Amino acid sequence: MSQHELPELPYDYDALEPHISEQVVRWHHDTHHQGYVNGLNSAEETLEENRESGDHSSTQSALRSVSHNGSGHYLHTLFWENMHPDGGGEPEGALADRIEEDFGSYDAWKAEFKEAAGWSAGGWALLVYDTVAKQLRNLAVQKHNDGALWSAHPIFAVDVWEHSYYHDYGPDRGDFVDNVFEVVNWDTVAENYDQVVSTYE
Ligand code: MN
Repeated sequence: MSQHELPELPYDYDALEPHISEQVVRWHHDTHHQGYVNGLNSAEETLEENRESGDHSSTQSALRSVSHNGSGHYLHTLFWENMHPDGGGEPEGALADRIEEDFGSYDAWKAEFKEAAGWSAGGWALLVYDTVAKQLRNLAVQKHNDGALWSAHPIFAVDVWEHSYYHDYGPDRGDFVDNVFEVVNWDTVAENYDQVVSTYE
């Protein structure tokens, strides 16, 4: 079985300053994200061993770990890709048209997305494409997987766990989310959108 690996950041550790500090990106990527990669690999090893041995005493916890750590790994990967020092502004083209169609306007979408980002003690705000309903939705997720919608393909993710913002912004999570919007790489969000729409529509 192949091991999952921590992806390299698509920019330098200090590239998102002043919006996200070098220190937070180092901790977040090298420690937290690495931890989810390690947890997923460990859970998959356990499952493989248990299938071979027939001893399933640790299988249930390993299955839960795949959901938690796998979702953590995948969402963090998306989060890093969704930002760039040259980012910011608003989406353009087909993605912008679809946001307007499905949410009424960019501002209406953003207001709802920021509510998703403010909801949980620790989790994610996600813009997803719902592959069954064939529309964009916002999701408010607790931890990495509580609040999941099984048809949802995430195209934009903002991490609102405390490790994501507390060192830079203290308890002002909204200020952090506003700063993420200053570095959103809408090109990658649009690529994700185009890819999923071309598959499902
Ligand atoms: Mn995180």
